[in-house]
Amino acid sequence: MKRIAVWIWILAIALGCVGVFSGCGESQKTGAKYEIVAEYKPESGSLTGTVKVTFENCEESAFSTLKFQMYPNAYRKNALYRPVSSAFEKSAYYAGESYGEMTVYSVNGAKNWEVMGEDENILYVFLERELYPGDKVVLDIAFSTKLANVNHRTGITKKTVNLGNAFPILCGIKNGGFYESTYYSDGDPFYSDCADYKVSLTLPKEYVVAATGETVGERTLESKKVYTMSILNARDFAMVVSDRFKVLETAVNGKSVKYYYYDDKNAEESLSAAAESFAFFEKTFGEYPYEQYSVAQTGFCYGGMEYPCLSMISDALNEEAKIRSIVHETAHQWWYAAVGSDQIENAWQDEGVAEYSSVLFFEAYEKYGFTREALVTEALKEYRSYYDVYGSVLGRTDTRMTRNLSEYLSDYEYRCIAYDKGVVMMDTLRKSIGDKKFFSGLKKYYEGNLFRMATPNDLIGSFERAGVDVHGYFESFLSGKTIL
Ligand SMILES: [Zn+2]
Repeated sequence: MKRIAVWIWILAIALGCVGVFSGCGESQKTGAKYEIVAEYKPESGSLTGTVKVTFENCEESAFSTLKFQMYPNAYRKNALYRPVSSAFEKSAYYAGESYGEMTVYSVNGAKNWEVMGEDENILYVFLERELYPGDKVVLDIAFSTKLANVNHRTGITKKTVNLGNAFPILCGIKNGGFYESTYYSDGDPFYSDCADYKVSLTLPKEYVVAATGETVGERTLESKKVYTMSILNARDFAMVVSDRFKVLETAVNGKSVKYYYYDDKNAEESLSAAAESFAFFEKTFGEYPYEQYSVAQTGFCYGGMEYPCLSMISDALNEEAKIRSIVHETAHQWWYAAVGSDQIENAWQDEGVAEYSSVLFFEAYEKYGFTREALVTEALKEYRSYYDVYGSVLGRTDTRMTRNLSEYLSDYEYRCIAYDKGVVMMDTLRKSIGDKKFFSGLKKYYEGNLFRMATPNDLIGSFERAGVDVHGYFESFLSGKTIL
């Protein structure tokens, strides 16, 4: 009975894979292409430009409205959902209160448009005619993003400018419709599909750009510089720019790994941690699908933040935390950038798998001084202390791993559930099914879900395809039944 059920389920996954890419041609696995032309002006602290988006309907039903995320609106004064929780306000808003926002000036190629959503966070573009499966539409959006002074994903820091989520991009498609995400201060509230990007950025010529895309052009126009960057099949496009960046570069398996920094006396070691973990993850999970990867030191109130081909690493970390953050964010290049997952509903699938990948790296590279046992024990201890503290203070402990970001009461709870419990779950799984099936499962997960949004069942199914029935195991952890 169980065996039959497993095979039916595997068949369903296989059919699902076919469905995702149908109607969009074989070479083009994504439904959107962006051509972005923008200028960053330090004097106004804003990024202004146009986004030309070509969207092909790869779904099975027609669209009359396209929706775009406007994450920078979370930084405005009256936002319902603040990007930073009170615990991190001081380290984020280093110069006191500061606000930012995104303004849309026009949308060409559409009947009408309006900024809507629960928190003025979504641009609704009403199309001139229904967009049927296989049809394309081209829109030109003129926008400006005013940046707050904040050590956060989208903001001006003391020495850099973080341009994460700084452009309007299409909401990811979930169950055939655009998924609108508000901002949450706990977790990464992003859900986006892979697309092709060509970005041209103008800024003062002293500035250096660390970016998602490969630089394909660079020219100087009097006091300014224009960088042209491009990438195919990327989930997002982010940049960190600075007039202080120094750059170190190395090659790993023919791909470029760079480190942008301004204040790191052990910069070579930082680059080395990025390069070694990059090489390890390629060998362990599968080939990285892009040509370059950059790590950028920057002002950031958390340890780091991942974007496709780009990781932001806080300049406020001590040596140990910096190395751990670099390795963790590098793991996200496989689990987030290449294989996406629903970070809003299943943060464990993103953070737990990335953090456990760090454990695998440190286990293999003993010179860093962290053993598998110590790291897993640390995660278990943190989880247990959360369990005790929340149990005694609140009289309840919500141990569910499958839950929306809005259901976490604090950064602490989010961290203990998504990261720590995730690490314990992956390590316990590995112990029970053995290394061979465990690593084979992760490879299958990577191979089978590249550029897709993987569901929890895609991960569970990958281990089952490696020869073990782990459905019940995952279910007991994810639903909170397992007692640790
Ligand atoms: Zn992470």
